[in-house]
Amino acid sequence: MPHIEIEISPQTNIRELVAALPIAADVMNAFGLGCSGCGVSKYETIEQGAAAHGLRVEPIIAALAQARLSGFVPSIDKEDRRPVRRAPGEFSGRAKIAHVVPVMSGKGGVGKSLVTALLAIGLRRKHMRVGILDADITGPSIPKLFGLHEPLLVQADPNAKTPQGQPLPLMVPAVSRSAIEIVSSNLLTDKEDTAMVWRGPIVSGVIRQFYEQVVWSDLDYLLVDLPPGTSDAPLTVLQSLSIDGVVLVTMPQALATMIVRKAANLVHQLKKPILGVVENMSYFAAPDTGKRYEIFGPSYADRVAELAEAPVLARIPIDPEKARLADEGRVEEIDDPICDELAEHLSAAIAARPKPKETISII
Ligand code: ADP
Repeated sequence: MPHIEIEISPQTNIRELVAALPIAADVMNAFGLGCSGCGVSKYETIEQGAAAHGLRVEPIIAALAQARLSGFVPSIDKEDRRPVRRAPGEFSGRAKIAHVVPVMSGKGGVGKSLVTALLAIGLRRKHMRVGILDADITGPSIPKLFGLHEPLLVQADPNAKTPQGQPLPLMVPAVSRSAIEIVSSNLLTDKEDTAMVWRGPIVSGVIRQFYEQVVWSDLDYLLVDLPPGTSDAPLTVLQSLSIDGVVLVTMPQALATMIVRKAANLVHQLKKPILGVVENMSYFAAPDTGKRYEIFGPSYADRVAELAEAPVLARIPIDPEKARLADEGRVEEIDDPICDELAEHLSAAIAARPKPKETISII
């Protein structure tokens, strides 16, 4: 065994540790911490990673120290692997969600889901606790981006019953490698208990269930990936949830701009703020020369921002590498300053438009 000098302490950076001591990745995995290979780990200490995943840091440090000595992953106590993610009091307690931010687009295919994911990653890189409610019921793509396939656990709520006297089902969110909590219709099976969730087959009803009948942890941000367009479903979310404001995703096409105008008007009619505009697939930067080509035409970002009365949060280039990682379920491996830019500008926009002091209480 070569003697490796890196210090193993709660403050050790995960990426640096794994680089110096590759077996550390296996130890992390044994604790269910898949974060050692993902972009967020670069910014996280062992303590921060453990906290994000709801684990105690001490057993992880002990196991890492043992693995360094022996060269093997030690066996890990079941209790030490069990995440404590729920809000205190579990089902009887209610999660506190500081900011709810729906991500909206006038039409499909502009990259709304990818932008939601990049924003979530950027916020996690700032050590925020983040959840994504995939409300795009007709085309749920969030789990695929994060490589999540396992159906959600559904448990009976001991404290609430349906009008028929049945226990109310409660969904437990999936947790991504970098500890982003995710709920999506794509993660529901047609098993009996899950079918209960679908009673009342109206899309807007399902979205409400995703908000209320989910055991979310206490979160700093809940991003809501809305269905595209201005149909009933996005309207319900905007009306019924206590949101901070909307992020509008667009791309550089005159038609898209018209559609965005409609979406912006709708949000304003509902007296909800638009926090910012993201122009996706804004341009393509040639990898060899860096020259920018406006593939879909000139940018309309400033025009859209004017219509929306909101700042441009980011202009995101067309990037085949991001599309590839997203397609392979490895979106969290995207290590791009655009994630930080999105997160920073969103936080600033929220700070500039504080919503009335209230804490949203949901299950
Ligand atoms: P929406 O949610 O608006 O329907 P998606 O996020 O599913 O759109 O994106 C549609 C497709 O475009 C996906 O295959 C996605 O990977 C790709 N895509 C989105 N943004 C970009 C980008 N900036 N560069 C390259 N491909 C992108």
